[in-house]
Amino acid sequence: DIGIAADSQWHEIGAPVLPAIAADAHKYSRGLVHALAGTMPGAIALSAGAAARSGAGYVRVSTSKPIAALPLAVVQTGDAKLSDPRIGCLLVGPGMGDLPQLLTLALTSHAPKVIDADAIRHVGEPARLKGQDAILTPHAGEFSALFGELPGTKAEQALAAAEASGAVIVFKGADTLVAAPDGRLGFAPPAPAWLATAGTGDVLAGIIAALRARGMPAFEAACAGVWLHGRAAERAGPTMTADDLLAHL
Ligand code: AMP
Ligand code: MG
Repeated sequence: DIGIAADSQWHEIGAPVLPAIAADAHKYSRGLVHALAGTMPGAIALSAGAAARSGAGYVRVSTSKPIAALPLAVVQTGDAKLSDPRIGCLLVGPGMGDLPQLLTLALTSHAPKVIDADAIRHVGEPARLKGQDAILTPHAGEFSALFGELPGTKAEQALAAAEASGAVIVFKGADTLVAAPDGRLGFAPPAPAWLATAGTGDVLAGIIAALRARGMPAFEAACAGVWLHGRAAERAGPTMTADDLLAHL
């Protein structure tokens, strides 16, 4: 019993059809992901690498204090230029640490966005996200920090959260599912338990941001990202660490 009405629109997430790369593509037309780095640059390095490996043509990381160069991203120090109309998806949360102002900054942008990790905890009220084009990727702790203890099954909770926030919700865990505000629900096929290691959530956020930047709609990008993440983990095998996922994307 998954606790949802028989007529609701739910499905098991299958292999995604990804956008084609146009023959005349250039790096910006393939999708620009802009990530806001916080105080823990290791996490944003994983997200940025995952975005680059998921077909974003350009990955940019802005940071308020200098960080080491990242192999697959362009690092900008100083004020983030979020008015750049080329931004296909903003990413905030991985490695954010104690910089809640990064979420406030991200919410001033009209770009689609992926909100993960500590940024989810700083939203405060789900209704604050209404009118944003957002995908949230909470694990159980982040989910209850924002939405409280909702009644019902995980599927019902995810649908209620999507409705309350107007965002697509990727409710992570051993049984990840994706809920949209319009009632669509995608169940991820089983993924290996060895995904339970630090940094894999940062990788997932980067994958989804790239697919969104490549033009996939929010719900489809989230479902496709979850599917790719699980299959990359299968290929990486039981001794994998989060960075190993990148090579298997
Ligand atoms: P995070 O909690 O942000 O570090 O993200 C962890 C990632 O690993 C998410 O994509 C989870 O869905 C996934 N994950 C965690 N534990 C398991 C598990 N036992 N089985 C399958 N996937 C898992
Ligand atoms: Mg995480």
